[in-house]
Amino acid sequence: MAKRKAADAEASAAPNDQPQKKKIRRRPMKVLAAKAVSTSNQDLYDANAQNSPLLRLPPEVRNRIWYFLLCDGETIHVRGRTKQGRPVVKYSICSAVTNDEDTAMAIRAHNGNGEEGDPSCDTYQARHSKCFSHLRAESTPREHRLSLSVLAVSRQIHQEAALLPYQGNTFSIDALEYLGPFLKALVPAQANAIEKMTLASDHGYRNSTFQKLLGTKLKGLRGLICFGEFYHGVHDGSAYLPGGIGGLFVRYWTEGLQQFMGLPIAKVVVAISSSDVSQSKDDALNNSYTTVQRLAKRLEEQLLA
Ligand SMILES: [Zn+2]
Repeated sequence: MAKRKAADAEASAAPNDQPQKKKIRRRPMKVLAAKAVSTSNQDLYDANAQNSPLLRLPPEVRNRIWYFLLCDGETIHVRGRTKQGRPVVKYSICSAVTNDEDTAMAIRAHNGNGEEGDPSCDTYQARHSKCFSHLRAESTPREHRLSLSVLAVSRQIHQEAALLPYQGNTFSIDALEYLGPFLKALVPAQANAIEKMTLASDHGYRNSTFQKLLGTKLKGLRGLICFGEFYHGVHDGSAYLPGGIGGLFVRYWTEGLQQFMGLPIAKVVVAISSSDVSQSKDDALNNSYTTVQRLAKRLEEQLLA
């Protein structure tokens, strides 16, 4: 097993335009990362440029078409469950009317202390309840699936556009323990192409294998939105965290996010909601309000460092 892993690591680190030396592979490690075009494929592409009404369009026009088809800034929910002891991951295009980034910014501005009707008053689960009903169905409805069929039309289209769904969409994860199975199912080029992610896990999850996986699979992650929602006892249990916010629950959630430290994240929003804080006017809970602000700020600094 160790030898095989070493071989895979060596193969993934090799330049993409080098011929493959190993005949047998566990996975098509480089199929999506080829930057060089073989002579036979170049002949094919030249013929396409003459004969195909679609592929003789200028590259910038083709890129616009691939963009609209594959990565129009969608949010894609990644949700898992355990079936017969194995993780099963499903996907669905988000159908929420609110935008997660806008909501996170609103929560960050008010620390969840919004007025009635303010989107920051709704939980992540409430805002995406319709999306999750699609995911609970036996098969995700067609209109909530991202169609990748265009990639199977020709090798040239595949080469030009195969990574766009990972680069241009935001992957929204509501349980960290299923992020691992999701990433493992992707070839390295796909995982490393992911640029934006939303984390809305309402509980902590941490282990060294998972943390290592994040480091090897999310080398392209640039934007991260993190939602934390605490509705019971946020102001209680100050023994666990300095500053008043407390409870093992909050600590585990914080440690879950800290596993993303060291990734090339350039933009991060940590949005923490607490009904205790938003309904509070007394001194003890106002102290909690300040602590929520501090915790969010500290996590943002750690994740950007
Ligand atoms: Zn949604």
